[in-house]
Amino acid sequence: MCKKFDLVVIGAGPGGYVAAIKAAKSGMHVAVVESIRVGGTCLNRGCIPAKAMIHASSLYEEMHSEAELVGLKAENVTFDYSKIVEYKQGTTDELVNGIEGLLEGNGIARFDGRGTLEKDGSVTVRLKEADDEGNEVISLEAGKVLLATGSVPSLIPIPGIDLKGVVTSDGVFALSNMPESMVIIGGGVIGVEFATVYANLGAKVTIVEALPRILQNMDKEISQNLKMIFKKKGIDIHTGASVKSIEKTDEGLCVNYEEKNKPAQATGRLVICAAGRKPNIEGLFGEGVEIEMDGKFIAVNDRFETSIPNVYAIGDIIKGTQLAHAASAYGICAVDYMNEKEPELKLSSIPGCVYTDPEIAQVGITEAEAKEQDISVITGKFIMSANGKSLITHEERGFVKVVADESTHKVLGAQMMCARATDMIAEFTTAIANDMTVEQLLAGIRPHPTYNEGIAEALEDCIGESTHTMPKRRRK
Ligand code: NAD
Repeated sequence: MCKKFDLVVIGAGPGGYVAAIKAAKSGMHVAVVESIRVGGTCLNRGCIPAKAMIHASSLYEEMHSEAELVGLKAENVTFDYSKIVEYKQGTTDELVNGIEGLLEGNGIARFDGRGTLEKDGSVTVRLKEADDEGNEVISLEAGKVLLATGSVPSLIPIPGIDLKGVVTSDGVFALSNMPESMVIIGGGVIGVEFATVYANLGAKVTIVEALPRILQNMDKEISQNLKMIFKKKGIDIHTGASVKSIEKTDEGLCVNYEEKNKPAQATGRLVICAAGRKPNIEGLFGEGVEIEMDGKFIAVNDRFETSIPNVYAIGDIIKGTQLAHAASAYGICAVDYMNEKEPELKLSSIPGCVYTDPEIAQVGITEAEAKEQDISVITGKFIMSANGKSLITHEERGFVKVVADESTHKVLGAQMMCARATDMIAEFTTAIANDMTVEQLLAGIRPHPTYNEGIAEALEDCIGESTHTMPKRRRK
C-alpha cells in the first residue's frame, strides 16, 4: 500500500510538528510519522514536564521561605509527590492534545509508528497498530522528507551504569515516589534543573561535574553565583570531578569519582545520569541508504539539506544548539527553503535558558567571548537589588549584563540571572536579530514596577550611568 505526499516529516517533536504545520499552511500535502507520542522530548520527557516540576517545587519552597516574610501563615505545608507527578502529566497531556488537534486541523496525515527512510526516497512506517485496512507496514511516497527524530539521553560508558536506580532524565519523569537522596552526574542544564526540583522538595542532592564549573557554557559569573546559591540550598557540588564507576551498597548507590586526582565517593538512593544527549537515528535509514554524517550528527548545509537530494534534517540530529525553540526555528527555515523562500528568522541569535531559581538566560556573546574574538565592546550591568519589583517579591538576587559593539553600539549579547530572566531575554533576542543599538532599545518606555526596568538600567549603564545605581565617583 502506498500513499503520496509533498512532504513526509519523521518525528513530531517541536522541530517536526512545527515544520509540518508551517508546510501545510504553505499549501503542501503533509504527513507526520511519530513512533512514541506527538510533542517529542520537549513535551513528554523534557522542557514541559521539567518546568511543571520546577514550578510545583519552587512554590513549595517559597511557602516555607517567603510566606512569613510577607505576613502569610503557611503552617504544616507538605506535598504529595504522586499529585505533583499527576499535575506534571496533566500539563503535558493538555499540550499534546492541543498539538494533535492542530495537526488534524491543518489537514496533516498522522502515522503512529517508526519511520525509515528508504533508498528510493520513500518512507516505510512500521505502524504501532494495524491501520483500517489491516496493514502493519505502509509505504509513503514523498516529494521531500524532513528528518526530525531528535535525541535520546547519552549514558556514560562506566561500570555500574546499568544498575537498578541509575536513571536518565527519561527515568526521572517516570518515578512515582520521591527520591530522598540522589547523585547527579553532570552539572549541565539537565543536572542543575533536577537539582533545583529535588533540593526544593527536601532531598539530599550531590552534583558531580567533570568540567571546572557547573553550566560551563554559560557566563562565568552566572555559574559561580549558581554554585553559591546551590550550596546555600544544601546541594553538594563537586567540579573537576570525573565519575569512574557506580556500585551498589547498603546505603544505596555509591558513585566513585576522581577529584583533583584523588578518588572520592558520593552516595544516594538514586543516580541521575545527565551527561548529554545523542542523536536518535537508530533504525532511521533503510538498507543501502548512504547519508553523510558529521561525527554522530547528520550533516546538513545551511539550507538544512542532507547529502541525499530532497531529504532535509533539523533539530537535535544535526550539529548545533540542542534546544526545542532552535529545532522549531530550524524547521520553519527548512520549510522556507523547500518553498524557495528566504527565511525571516535569524538563526544567529538563539537564546539559552535555564530554569533554576533565580532563572538564567543568555543570548549572543559574553564579554569574555568578545575579547577572544577581538571585538571592542562596551558593557553595562545592573544589580537587581535596586529594582522595585525584585524587592517586592524578595527576588533581588541577580543581575542583567549587556554587551554592545564599542563603535556602533549594536547589542551583541546579554546575560541575565534574575526573576523572569527566561521571559525577558526575548528583549535582547529581538534587538540582536534586528541589529538594534543600545539607544534604540532604550527608546521604549518600560512600565513600573517591572523586572524589565532592570534591562533599561543595564542598557543605560552601557552608555553612561544607570539612574538607580550610585554614581561611580562623586561629580564636582
Ligand atoms: P550538557 O551537555 O548541558 O551537560 C552534561 C554535563 O555532564 C557536562 O557539563 C559534562 O561535562 C558532564 N559530564 C559528562 N560526563 C561526565 C562524567 N563522567 N563525570 C562527570 N560529569 C560528566 O547536557 P545535559 O544537561 O544532559 O542536557 C542535554 C541537552 O538538553 C543540552 O543541549 C541542553 O541544552 C538541553 N536541555 C535544555 C534545557 C533548557 O533549555 N532549559 C533543559 C534541559 C536540557
